[in-house]
Amino acid sequence: MAKVPKPNELVFDYNPPQKWWMDTKPEFRPGTWCYPGKAKNAEVLGLPNPREWSPLDEDWKLPSNWKEIIFEGMRDCLNKYRSLRVFMDICVRCGACSDKCHFYIGSGDPKNMPVLRGELLRSVYRKDFTLAGKIMGRIAGARELNEEVVKEWFYYFFQCTECRRCSVFCPYGIDTAEITIMGRELLNLLGVNIDWVLGPAANCYLNGNHLGIQPHAFKDMIEFFVEEIEAVNGIRIEPTFNRKGAEVLFITPSGDVFADPGTYTLMGYLMLFHEIGLDYTWSTYASEGGNFGLFTNHDTMKKLNAKMYAEAERLGVKYIIGGECGHMWRVIQQYMDTMNGPADFLEVPRSPITGTVFDNAKSTKMIHIVEFTADLIRNGKLKLDPSRNDHLRVTYHDSCNPARAMGFFDEPRYVIKNVCNNFWDMPPNCIREQTFCCGSGSGLNTDEFMEMRMRGGLPRANAVKHVHDKHGVNMLSCICAIDRAVLPPLMDYWVPDVDVTGVHELVGNAIVMEGETERTTDLRGNPLEGMEDMSDEDL
Ligand code: SF4
Ligand code: SF4
Repeated sequence: MAKVPKPNELVFDYNPPQKWWMDTKPEFRPGTWCYPGKAKNAEVLGLPNPREWSPLDEDWKLPSNWKEIIFEGMRDCLNKYRSLRVFMDICVRCGACSDKCHFYIGSGDPKNMPVLRGELLRSVYRKDFTLAGKIMGRIAGARELNEEVVKEWFYYFFQCTECRRCSVFCPYGIDTAEITIMGRELLNLLGVNIDWVLGPAANCYLNGNHLGIQPHAFKDMIEFFVEEIEAVNGIRIEPTFNRKGAEVLFITPSGDVFADPGTYTLMGYLMLFHEIGLDYTWSTYASEGGNFGLFTNHDTMKKLNAKMYAEAERLGVKYIIGGECGHMWRVIQQYMDTMNGPADFLEVPRSPITGTVFDNAKSTKMIHIVEFTADLIRNGKLKLDPSRNDHLRVTYHDSCNPARAMGFFDEPRYVIKNVCNNFWDMPPNCIREQTFCCGSGSGLNTDEFMEMRMRGGLPRANAVKHVHDKHGVNMLSCICAIDRAVLPPLMDYWVPDVDVTGVHELVGNAIVMEGETERTTDLRGNPLEGMEDMSDEDL
């Protein structure tokens, strides 16, 4: 792992380079690029041109007909995705998006301006797919495709977290994230991809989840958290696995099962479902809500998405509840219906506790745990004691995908405000649809990319620092497993006094369960407010 400069050592240079953008090349400096996809993972996924290669090598071992492959791929994408053709043609280069990308703010590199990121692909499109570009070349913003262009695509399409913040500010609604997705799709045709995406996707193919955990270990982990909950409040929960005929299949990202602080969020799910007596099951096979196929290519995304539905059909459940994940919901909300849907073999979700029918999920048959919980609270079905979170001063990070791909703004805040007494939002220009990315999404949450992650996460961290300084905020909540994994190092780097939590961890702290013993600690074992002086033994 490259050494990460300390915050005060980072240099921010917003001076534009002296040369025209087409004449500058990326510098593959440690900390700014991700390791390439390994041959063994590409083979598992059936991806083209598996080989060992390095971005630092002159020769990237591309297929001999690589140009033909790119042009054919581009033609195919332009025919299939009308949005791509529109995005290629309508940018007027107004620059409204330029300073909206966290990677531009954090690096000062003009090619991280969304407008220029789009030009990386657009320039090649112009040269070979438009008359003006064919005739006027560079004057019309067109350029020849060559190996240097492929290297530049790799560098900058893997310095975009596909967060869509720029699209909010574009007067034409151009979605640069979709351009990045297409750029990665084309690169993938040449076998140019990163291992932090390929490895987890391959693990999903082999074992059902990104982390490659086998079914028995998945079950063991959840049973471990059952014991942890019992130690906190004396309640013994008995989750079921792969149970045919359950009403609901629950799927969450594997990060919740295997990595702190997501594990505390998972304890919150277990407590909630037990308390309301939900007839649900876990699957040790569809043991991943995330879908790194979104960060690779459409075909892989489609297969990973299909697995969840195949398992729902096999188990004969009525519908699916999905856990706190970010990109899983983008896949469900934006792509599932046309990729694998509609899921007509399932029923439109209806809460067995409140009777609420979730019409918003009538095609996907999958609802978000936070909307499910918000509905329980609104109908008075949960006994909550928000004072159990009084030791926390909470703010909320709108994870990019649930926020911008789902419009999911109010439900998480509604739940948080019902389970916490101390909540402050960050300033309005960096929350809800304008939220800033964590800086590590879309498969870029890898250690060798740490410098860029800390740079890209700066705007988010800066807003957290604002509420930390003003209101003493010490807890950053979110509803995304990648966020729960990447925000802790970001906070350690920029705002060290702030910790990170999932929303259902806060629910788990506040929920008053039937027959529980007196609560003295939160789910992490920290003393509740007023119990700080109790001895470890008492706690
Ligand atoms: S805001 Fe839209 S139209 Fe303007 S430069 Fe950016 S992508 Fe192009
Ligand atoms: S999608 Fe996000 S990361 Fe990508 S260019 Fe736009 S703002 Fe930057």
